[in-house]
Formats: sequence, C-alpha cells, structure tokens
Amino acid sequence: MRRVAAGEAGIVPRWEHEAMSALLLERLVEKAGIPLSLYFSSAADVRAQLRFVTLLIRGIEDSEPWPEDVGRGEDKRFLCDIVANKRSGIDVDKLDYLVRDSMAAFGAGGRLPGFDIHRIITSARVLTRCERVGSVRFREVCFQMKVALDINMVYQLRAMLHRQVYQHRMANVAEAMITDLLEAANACFVMRGRDPSETISLSDAAQDPDCFVRLTDGVLESINTQPNQVGLARAQRLYERLQQRNFYRPVGHPVQLETRPRCRACDRPTEIDHRFCAHCGKSLRVRRHVIESNGKTQLPWLAALSAEQAKSHFPFPPLCHT
Ligand SMILES: [Zn+2]
Repeated sequence: MRRVAAGEAGIVPRWEHEAMSALLLERLVEKAGIPLSLYFSSAADVRAQLRFVTLLIRGIEDSEPWPEDVGRGEDKRFLCDIVANKRSGIDVDKLDYLVRDSMAAFGAGGRLPGFDIHRIITSARVLTRCERVGSVRFREVCFQMKVALDINMVYQLRAMLHRQVYQHRMANVAEAMITDLLEAANACFVMRGRDPSETISLSDAAQDPDCFVRLTDGVLESINTQPNQVGLARAQRLYERLQQRNFYRPVGHPVQLETRPRCRACDRPTEIDHRFCAHCGKSLRVRRHVIESNGKTQLPWLAALSAEQAKSHFPFPPLCHT
C-alpha cells in the first residue's frame, strides 16, 4: 500500500518548495551581504522586489488577480511565463530538468533529446493576446509556428520520463521506503542546527533554510552510521534493505467485484430495474446472479452472500510479506 509522506499525514508542517525558495532567496541575499538597498529606493521597495522574484518562481494562473505588492503593474505579467508557465507548462525550469533527466536516464551521448532547446528559446516572443481576460489584455510569452514540432517533442519527452523514470514502479517503492526511513529516524536523529551549538530534528531542518541546504542524500548514510539507538534501528534496517535492493513487495492486489446482476445472453452487468439489456437488447426476465422473489428481482446475487461464501467464489491470491 502506498503510504503518505510525513507532511501529508500531518506529522510535520506541510513543506512547499515555493515557500522554501522564497526563504532561501532572502537568506541568500542576507548571507552574501548583497546591498539591495543601494539599487532600490526604500526597504519597502526591496521587500516588494523579493516578493516579485518569489512570484516568478511560483508562477501565476490567468484567473488569479495580479498582486498589488510586487512593485510593478500587471503589464509585466508575461515575466511570470519564463520560470513557471502555468498556461502551457513550457518554461525554462521544465526545459532544464527534461534535458538533464533525459540525458541522465537515456544517455543522449551529448546530443539534446529530440528537440533544440536553443531554437525554442530564441523563437520566443512577447505578444498581446487578442481577447481580454477580465478588463486586461494580457501579454504572454509565445513561440513561433516553426518550433511547433520541437515543442511537441518536449511534451512527448515529458510523458516518456514520467512513464519510464519519475513514476517507475521501483522509483515509487524506493520513495515509499525512504519516506518511512526518514519518518522512523525523525524522533531520534539530530543534526547541527543554524547555531552550531544547537541540534535540530530532520523535520525541523526541512523548514529552516540554513539547515535545509544540508539535507542531501548524505543524511541517509549519517543515519546508518549512528551508534545503536532504539529509535534508529528501524531506519537502519530500512537503509540496509535499500542497499540490498530488498524492496517492499505488494500485498495482494485490488479486486473489483461486480455486484449488479448479469445478462444471461451477453453476461454483462445490467441495472437492477431494467427489463431489457442495455448492451445486447435481450429480455432480462431471467438473469444470472439475482435472487427473484414473487417474480420480482430483489437483490443482486453477490449482495446476498456472506463474507465466507463470497471468498469461496472469489479465491484471493496468497499474501506476500512486505
Ligand atoms: Zn445482454
């Protein structure tokens, strides 16, 4: 069974990459000592510019009103199409990770995978849309017709990566195991906090931009090298299993039980109050899997069975262990 991530289960506050991106940006400016106040007129203006960069990362739907506090008017809405295009999905973020992942997964041998990313980018133009949305005539990032095939390839590549890599059966299983491992380790495992004299749990570190940047794959190895602690034993067992590719195995599989009575002629399910089969048109006076009383259909046959009787009719496969 697919387990929910700790954030979804309410164990830790829900983590969102847009919110973390905004925190990282603020921290980056602060830590690198970038004197933004030299470039902007006031502290309020600096904050508005940071909010605008956050908006660029998050993107904005066409139906969403333009925020008042980002230091520029709605005529700059097209800038939000560059990093997170909510309309077509074609943005630099997607182009970047599709090229990166397809080269890593399929080995393009240095060639770009099926489309020319530079051709797509150089064909982009900002055009004013013919129809109005509300009272505004949007300007948006558009692409020339000559790159239609390249853009088609982008969507094809994305679909292929989802099928073969991101949603791959084993990727999902490994993700579920890593989630369980981190959840199991969270109560006992601590790492260095923002202040080196402090310690912080994994779930708290995920909310703090300074600690978040240290949450790499190395955390799994650190958990595995900790001395014996009761709470870490389960996490360490899961780590060993991942190393040995001893993945979770499915327990049973979903079975769909048809509870409607079946047509005697075509054997397809029929509605209980129908007099003629909707599939083959034959009379439903006599049907299989129904109980008749006083010449009227009372119950689908399956609904009248006890659980034990139903099991004997539908043998379930033997259960595997996880
Ligand atoms: Zn029929």
